[in-house]
Amino acid sequence: MCTQHPLYFVVAKQQIKERCTFMIIMVFVFKTLEEYRILGKDYEVLRPSTCPDPACGRCDCFWKQTAYSRDVLDNDEVVSLRIQRFKCRYCDLVVSCLFSFLVPYRRYSAEVVAATAETYVTAPVGVPLKSYRNIAENTTS
Ligand SMILES: [Zn+2]
Repeated sequence: MCTQHPLYFVVAKQQIKERCTFMIIMVFVFKTLEEYRILGKDYEVLRPSTCPDPACGRCDCFWKQTAYSRDVLDNDEVVSLRIQRFKCRYCDLVVSCLFSFLVPYRRYSAEVVAATAETYVTAPVGVPLKSYRNIAENTTS
């Protein structure tokens, strides 16, 4: 019996090939991009203890796979992050471990996305809204 890793949860699952499935799991280690920049430069993401695919669910099954670089936009600067991937040796599931201050498939940090959504929702009636990108670029943290 293996224990669940409390720092992860699955946010997306995609079938890429017939036998290869891809998942994104969130890593709750740093609350903000700023915290990551201060403390997380050399942080090694822990290997998930259990395969999150319900059809597999094996323990101690992940091998480290090639990490990739991802740029995140945080107001006026671009920060490059290293995203670690692991592959299940039994079911070939590949998981990407995204930090919780990122939003899957979005270039802006979660903080900027939230501030932009608030600006959009609280805009006075009758004021023409700019594009999401324009609002995000003018949003300060
Ligand atoms: Zn598996």
